[in-house]
Amino acid sequence: MHICVIGTGYVGLVSGACFAEFGMQVTCVDNVDAKILDLQEGRLPIHEPGLHELVNKGLRESRLSFTTDVAKAIEEALVIFIAVGTPAGENGATDLRYIDAVADTIGRCISDYKVVATKSTVPVGTAQRIKARIQEAQPEPVPFSVISNPEFLREGSAIEDFMRPNRVVIGGEDQHALAIMKEIYSPLYLIETPFVITDTVTAELIKYASNTFLALKISFINEIANLCDVLHADVHDVARAMGLDQRIGRRFLHPGPGYGGSCFPKDVQSLTYFSREVGVTLELAAAADRVNRQQRQHMVEKIVAMMDGEVAGKTIGVLGLAFKPNTDDIREAPAIDIITTLLTQGAHIKAYDPVAMPVAQQVLPDIEYCRDAYETCAGSDALVLVTEWNQFRALDLERVYALLQQPVMIDLRNVYEPAMMRRLGFRYTAVGRRGAWTVESEKEKDAYGAESP
Ligand code: NAD
Repeated sequence: MHICVIGTGYVGLVSGACFAEFGMQVTCVDNVDAKILDLQEGRLPIHEPGLHELVNKGLRESRLSFTTDVAKAIEEALVIFIAVGTPAGENGATDLRYIDAVADTIGRCISDYKVVATKSTVPVGTAQRIKARIQEAQPEPVPFSVISNPEFLREGSAIEDFMRPNRVVIGGEDQHALAIMKEIYSPLYLIETPFVITDTVTAELIKYASNTFLALKISFINEIANLCDVLHADVHDVARAMGLDQRIGRRFLHPGPGYGGSCFPKDVQSLTYFSREVGVTLELAAAADRVNRQQRQHMVEKIVAMMDGEVAGKTIGVLGLAFKPNTDDIREAPAIDIITTLLTQGAHIKAYDPVAMPVAQQVLPDIEYCRDAYETCAGSDALVLVTEWNQFRALDLERVYALLQQPVMIDLRNVYEPAMMRRLGFRYTAVGRRGAWTVESEKEKDAYGAESP
């Protein structure tokens, strides 16, 4: 079967490469010439583990191709996947301009029956909107079906997530189109992947409900972590014990600087926005967003407090810029916000990230980029760990101690043990860890009274 994927970013490229691996004949389309030229040569515009190999395999075996010729790609395909961006617009609304443009193009180009499947995350009702736009753009009526097929992959483990998803959601009203979609995903039936077949509106909502629930879990544990700091309790024990309750589950209970990336922040805001549009106020979604913003601010306050209330003129080393490990994506990354605030307060920033520095340079041109973690430490008045790349989990701490101007470490991912850091002589703080330095413990002068287990 021929399929075409419009939009060759994190979702489109991974989906295209994986569908080719399923045995489909896949054409990936993008409107950025340079991206397509690179991909035709097997060079990838993004960092995603395993993707380079999969794309080049698809190219070699002639099941995957790349083009900017959208009309030809649409003509050859039975199923057209839409995977363009849906960024945040005004006041939390979703900016649907890329979706609209693709729908108009599809309308102009189709000359026989097509299934149009939306992988992009789109507000409820967008399937209807796409249908209407395609109909309007058609020179003469040609039958087609619109399907909602939200994508749940995570950057950093996108291929595994696509190949072995927890579930596949397909929303549609036309049985013929649903049958075609099931055929595309038939390799996943063989590994007993659960399928949720529903209508388009419900499928669109499932994606937002899922992401918002995960965002809520993160904001919840971040609030508990902040409470732990004040109470001298340990959030790791709290989260572990909570997670052992199977009704709660242990995933997404890791405290930190708040969620980021291209999905959670905008999806939570979008759900809040389009629910309000239909007269429903989602208090919890709005609170998750508010707590997340506050958490970033709180992290800056932690850093400033660790530097005796003043960062102006001081050098701060930052480890990790991407919004999470194993990706070069810096969209809504906590590190970017935190660094920007510290810069406005007069700090000098040295930073290192294994893959995200080239993209970060475009938004943070005025910081000093380093070759590795140790160069970042050299001469810094404090070290802040923001993204928990594996290589930051096993730093040579004696070397770090020797290189830092002041042995101050602010570990926003709770990678290290407070007791060990103390033994090594660091002034160390984390997020909700017992035994770490906090403003409250300093005030009480019993900062290190309780040993971490
Ligand atoms: P992205 O920005 O990485 O990629 C979008 C691509 O679409 C870009 O390459 C852009 O050039 C291309 N594009 C835009 N307009 C086009 C047009 N008219 N014709 C052809 N190409 C066009 O975005 P992404 O991260 O892949 O996300 C895509 C969608 O998937 C979004 O709705 C997002 O919310 C959703 N999603 C993302 C993830 C994720 O982890 N990134 C996970 C699940 C769902």
